[in-house]
Amino acid sequence: MIKGFTRFLQSPGQHLKSLFGPQDAPAGSTGPRIIPRQEHPVSRQHFSDASLKVLYRLHNAGFQAFLVGGCIRDSLLGHMPKDFDVATDATPEQVRELFRNSRIIGRRFRIVHVRFGREVIEVTTFRGKPNDDHADHISQQSDDGLLLRDNVWGNLEEDALRRDFTVNALYYNIADFSIHDFADGVKDIESRTLRLIGDPATRYREDPVRMLRAVRFAAKLDFHLDPATEAPIDEAAPLLLQIPPARLFDEVLKLFMAGHGVVTFRLLRQYGLFAMLFPEADEAMDALPWAERLVEHALESTDRRIREDRPVTPAFLFAALLWAPVQQRQVRLEDDGMPAIPALQAASQQVVSRQLQHITIPKRFSLPMRDIWDLQQRLPLRRGKRVFQTREHPRFRAAYDFLLVREAAGELEPGLGDWWTAFQDADEHEQRRLLGKVDADPAGTPAPRNKRRRRRRRRKPSNNDS
Ligand code: ATP
Ligand code: MG
Repeated sequence: MIKGFTRFLQSPGQHLKSLFGPQDAPAGSTGPRIIPRQEHPVSRQHFSDASLKVLYRLHNAGFQAFLVGGCIRDSLLGHMPKDFDVATDATPEQVRELFRNSRIIGRRFRIVHVRFGREVIEVTTFRGKPNDDHADHISQQSDDGLLLRDNVWGNLEEDALRRDFTVNALYYNIADFSIHDFADGVKDIESRTLRLIGDPATRYREDPVRMLRAVRFAAKLDFHLDPATEAPIDEAAPLLLQIPPARLFDEVLKLFMAGHGVVTFRLLRQYGLFAMLFPEADEAMDALPWAERLVEHALESTDRRIREDRPVTPAFLFAALLWAPVQQRQVRLEDDGMPAIPALQAASQQVVSRQLQHITIPKRFSLPMRDIWDLQQRLPLRRGKRVFQTREHPRFRAAYDFLLVREAAGELEPGLGDWWTAFQDADEHEQRRLLGKVDADPAGTPAPRNKRRRRRRRRKPSNNDS
């Protein structure tokens, strides 16, 4: 690692300026600012072997080859990049021919995935400006400006100007290790600013997911949104309703499972974007005092697990995001006379089917999510064999964590969580003592914090049940 960069790593941001050479391009000049190798801290040591292999093979075959996007941005900020995007003038077919281990993916946006073991390098052909002459399979835009296809090839500069944020439009050239900065991205990295390239309202219309990306990067990088980039979000937020649910599922995972979930969630709420992703949950947060806290506690726990390199599952996250509307619907169904167990089933069903109109939740996550919810009704029932069955349930651990989150958020009076904490670790003798405590206190079921009519009704099925 070079000396300057080590210094920079210790105090990101502050030293960046001094690490670059002469700052300003001559006044009035257009084209990129090219920063030669000796004037920037980005080194090949920051890049994976696989990404370098891709760059060199393209270069040796006579193509241009650059690393671009998050990996350059993150290296400049002193973070080790994990994911590598390559930009080239080779077409997807030409890339495909150079790498046996590659395949072309995407229709809206065709790119090539080159695979090396578990690592995938994304190779993108330079995009150009579409015009009316292009056939629909190459370029297509809806009447309200949404880009349905974006496969017009272009040159490096055109490619740069079609990227989202200035800080994502920095290119590292494998031919001479220089960095090309077409949109003043370095300046924005120094001032920790996210600024869309071009007219922000137009760019959000072309692709509303850019609003989510703005929030994601702001949270992850601790950047602020430039006022002009921030201003149109309020009005443009409903455009997210046009995005296919499968794409939003991928984005939601990136938003909440990257270790900055709490901050991301607050920003999404602040900008009115959360309501476009989880409308029913958003409404429930205005009605139930614990609902927002519950999601924050769940995200805090997810963020902590990611920091500690422990596994996290989207099932737990979705269980938390959608629990408040499930509870609202369950109460309503019980008020109409339905017993608690079928009411939870029906409420879950309704919430999931409404949510699927916005965001896909693959079955491998929605089934465990519903187990976590169902187990919330079983955790209070601690008599006879049942307690051991619950303990053995494959989703017990997640359901127990979920119970703790509900208690921490103030949805439930604390108590049951502690009981299960003790029970899990106890030897047989201690377990018997804990079970005796339940017998001595037959009403030992946690009460919802705000007492409601359904408390009385709820006990009935639990008595029949044991
Ligand atoms: P990270 O990988 O850390 O999430 P990233 O910036 O690399 O961040 P990717 O989704 O990997 O994000 O995209 C790579 C690059 O492709 C971006 O940096 C940006 O230049 C461009 N890009 C991605 N999505 C869009 C988009 N919706 N509109 C315009 N450009 C985009
Ligand atoms: Mg990336």
